[in-house]
Amino acid sequence: MVMEGKPQAPHVLIFPLPFQGHINSMLKLAELLSLAGITITFLNTPHSHHQLTHHSDVLSRFSRFPTFRFCTITDGLSPDHPRTIEFFAQIIASFDTVTKPIFKHWLISGHFGPDLTCVVLDAFFKNLIDAEDAEIKQPIFGFRTVSGCSVWAYLRVPHLIEDGQLPIRGEEDMDRMITNIPAMENLLRCRDLPGFCRVTDTNDSVLQFVVKQTQQSYQFHALILNSFEDLEGPILSNIRTLCPNLYAIGPLHALLKTKLSHETESMNNLWQVDQSCLAWLDNQPPGSVIYVSFGSITVMGNRGLMEFWHGLVKSGRNFLWVIRPDLVKGGEIEIPAELEEGTKQRGYIVGWAPQEKVLSHEAVGGFLTHSGWNSTLESIVAGKPMVCWPYTADQQVNSRFVSNVWKLGVDMKDLCDRESVATMVNDVMVNRKEEFMRSASEMAELAGRSVSPGGSSYADFDRLVNEIRLLSQ
Ligand code: UDP
Repeated sequence: MVMEGKPQAPHVLIFPLPFQGHINSMLKLAELLSLAGITITFLNTPHSHHQLTHHSDVLSRFSRFPTFRFCTITDGLSPDHPRTIEFFAQIIASFDTVTKPIFKHWLISGHFGPDLTCVVLDAFFKNLIDAEDAEIKQPIFGFRTVSGCSVWAYLRVPHLIEDGQLPIRGEEDMDRMITNIPAMENLLRCRDLPGFCRVTDTNDSVLQFVVKQTQQSYQFHALILNSFEDLEGPILSNIRTLCPNLYAIGPLHALLKTKLSHETESMNNLWQVDQSCLAWLDNQPPGSVIYVSFGSITVMGNRGLMEFWHGLVKSGRNFLWVIRPDLVKGGEIEIPAELEEGTKQRGYIVGWAPQEKVLSHEAVGGFLTHSGWNSTLESIVAGKPMVCWPYTADQQVNSRFVSNVWKLGVDMKDLCDRESVATMVNDVMVNRKEEFMRSASEMAELAGRSVSPGGSSYADFDRLVNEIRLLSQ
């Protein structure tokens, strides 16, 4: 009950896209806001909620906040739908036809409670709310879970089309330099543009969808990014010319650690975590292990798997490799004896790792990653150089920034052969180790400062909390 004359406690509804990277970072935001005394309703699809509660400790962890609650909304798909990135267009279409009307009805009918202050919506979901819809009274904050550099590239896509720089005209056009993205001059080649730009027809439905969602970032009450000034300052300034009320509050997992008085590992896994790799790491020499993970949605064929495997064994380095149960699409394969032997000597394979703990382990000297934004930030915070093998979406831009702007590693984009894997792993782990370790340590220091009292992300988070409090009065 709300007492008359007393200010209401703020109540925020948070709604992520149903993918691991989105849920993970938006749950970190939910935990941070809960710690600040804000009531949170976290909305998930039943499928994601089921996976999350089965494979992580979220229920017990969030039970310490009496005003936090999970809530579910249908994604309109059948229970046995695979819900993988290959079906992205289908998932989005189903959200549009089934979820959107329910979500709107719930918002205007007070389903989430009469005290709802505002909504933090995954900005990839802008289509769930029509900008001109006067019936929705709550301010909508957009949280874009990807990098600022990829958001800025997406924002420029219409200009690239107008300019004739897009579409990409086939494989032979991939190294052409893109010339007119402010703050990225002479940096991006066609192959470094967001993965969705790799189409020969600019009317491609997924490209158009992503571009439209990004353009509509202007319509949010404010835009939240999991980034920090010392990492993406010039890019964030450019985004601010279009979305002035921008909150850069990352790396969120590091900010959360600052705010928690004791070290509790927050795990928001949709897969069963295999902790045994930590004991294996304990027995490896410092800096000797390359950690290999392609995130939660990447898929590859048997050939790709074999090239990585041969490359890792050939590199001569110790490796810890996450092979998700659904990483490889292809039938049974026979594993050559030399790979079995090489793995027994120097490797360890798990289905899902406690990644933040792994990256901060002293045995890990580098990260072979698909350049997902959470993974990139986690590597930055842990001060570990990267070998980037981007798969889709923002990852193509992130990997270019890792190699050519932040100088935190090498970009293996579009190569998938054992020689390249072995060479690039050794570049990061041995040949150029000092150079990369120096820049990785410097960036880790800046990341740490940004989430400490007086740091830019720390201050921006306080500003966000204050704004939410003001809205509730
Ligand atoms: N992750 C994990 N264990 C693994 C692989 C990944 O905990 O074995 C986590 C990782 O820490 C990150 C998230 O899954 O927070 C993946 O998000 P990211 O944005 O890097 O990539 P996506 O999965 O969205 O492609």
